[in-house]
Amino acid sequence: MSTRKYLAVRPVRNGKGIVALRGFRRGATVCRIRGRIVSADTVWGYWQRGNTRRGENCFRFDADRYLDPEGEIGAYANHACNPNTGIVKDARGLKLVALRSIPAGEEITHDYSTLLGADDVWTMKCNCGNAGCRRVVRNVAKMPGTLLRRYRRLGVIPEFILSTCG
Ligand SMILES: [Zn+2]
Repeated sequence: MSTRKYLAVRPVRNGKGIVALRGFRRGATVCRIRGRIVSADTVWGYWQRGNTRRGENCFRFDADRYLDPEGEIGAYANHACNPNTGIVKDARGLKLVALRSIPAGEEITHDYSTLLGADDVWTMKCNCGNAGCRRVVRNVAKMPGTLLRRYRRLGVIPEFILSTCG
């Protein structure tokens, strides 16, 4: 599936983001996250060199590796506290799956906390504008319990993240 026909990078509420060019049904794969698998040290290097944007864009891939989407559409996947997609890991890697039906024109978002293990100290001030915005995005262990249970039910917190919660 070429994402080019269905998705575009456009100006959104917070910088640039991924916008749906057609509708998606609930449960549909909206986007596969393509990129390079890199070590945690590589991501740390981005931060140390001041390339915070690139560091922030990386998706945690397992206990100690990340997926760096630089140059791919996944680099524009923004956070929302009430997102329309969730992260699922399967045999081919990471993908964004629609949590509800998504109309054409809507920004594709996911909840960054679902990829932040309990050992992750990174936080982000949030300006998603959703009702119920958490204001600060923190790791999965600090997520409200009702939200954690909802995401678990939906299957959008990878096992390697859940396992960090003990
Ligand atoms: Zn928010």
